[in-house]
Amino acid sequence: MDCLHTRLLTWYDRHARNLPWRISPQDGKSGVVANPYHVWLSEVMLQQTTVATVKSYFEKFVRQWPTVEALAASEPDDVMKAWAGLGYYSRARNLKACADIVATQLGGRFPQSAAELQKLPGIGAYTSAAIAAIAFGHNEPVVDGNIERVSCRLRADDTPLPAAKANCRQFMEENSPDNRPGDFAQAMMDLGATICTPKSPACALCPLQSDCAAYKDGTQLQFPVKAAKKPKPTRIGAAFVAERDDGAIWLTKRPEKGLLGGMATVPTTAWTAAQNGETSSTAAPVEADWLHQGIIRHTFTHFHLELTVWSGKVETMAGEGWWSPQTAIASEALPTVFKKVIVAVRRDAFR
Ligand code: SF4
Repeated sequence: MDCLHTRLLTWYDRHARNLPWRISPQDGKSGVVANPYHVWLSEVMLQQTTVATVKSYFEKFVRQWPTVEALAASEPDDVMKAWAGLGYYSRARNLKACADIVATQLGGRFPQSAAELQKLPGIGAYTSAAIAAIAFGHNEPVVDGNIERVSCRLRADDTPLPAAKANCRQFMEENSPDNRPGDFAQAMMDLGATICTPKSPACALCPLQSDCAAYKDGTQLQFPVKAAKKPKPTRIGAAFVAERDDGAIWLTKRPEKGLLGGMATVPTTAWTAAQNGETSSTAAPVEADWLHQGIIRHTFTHFHLELTVWSGKVETMAGEGWWSPQTAIASEALPTVFKKVIVAVRRDAFR
């Protein structure tokens, strides 16, 4: 009788998603190997971000920087601009730092083992296992969110996440075959993304139905069990869109370290959890007839943010920064939260 990995890989051979960084199973069998630069780039982008969002960013990056050497030779600000909108901006800084090391110290070649990969900036346990398995065929246990869900359901594992991750890793170690470990990991990811979805798993189409304890019990939706999340606090603040007569907007750069480090921003107050925090125009960086433009809301990993948006006509600003012309604003390294702020004043700023 077929074993679990054979059932899964047979399904993957017919139903693998076509992704721009991926080698199809047919190409893989005929000897085509994945490009480690593409695998690394996509896996870093996929941390905390969906495949649908990552596709266009990935294509833009490889068009602009076709090799790790090209990325290493780029200006850090250009990388931040290209990354803008993907979130978790420390990933972009680490991406550039990692490219620099691979290009200058490792002859342009990524290390092949998970242990060596983990020594590079921005590559943790998950990403190192994924690169080692997908790009180099090492049998490393890869566990992302999709694989967690599928493997918890298969075993009806009621250990709450994140503690259940260790069991998922063990499941992968026990079931991943030596001859196609990268495809096995990608097949598990694809099964989770297309069949074993969070709210409506299509068990009738699932190649692992006969292996699945949750299916047998009719308890699919009870897994994975998640530890109760702490409620997120809300922070408040004010943001100021200073506009010059010619339509240019004043931007500054956030400090390199910390949240949204190195990204462009309009001037803001500090963001405070105190409900009596400063949100009025008296906190503006210069005097002007500041107009109230409403409140925008944005959610970060650890808190919700409410920014009161003000706009004003200003000719001269104080401190370090630059006037970004109307035609350049869309290519600035503006994180989504500050795009929302600018759109509150100028609806068509990024169209
Ligand atoms: Fe998921 Fe259903 Fe397949 Fe079990 S049988 S792995 S719950 S899709």
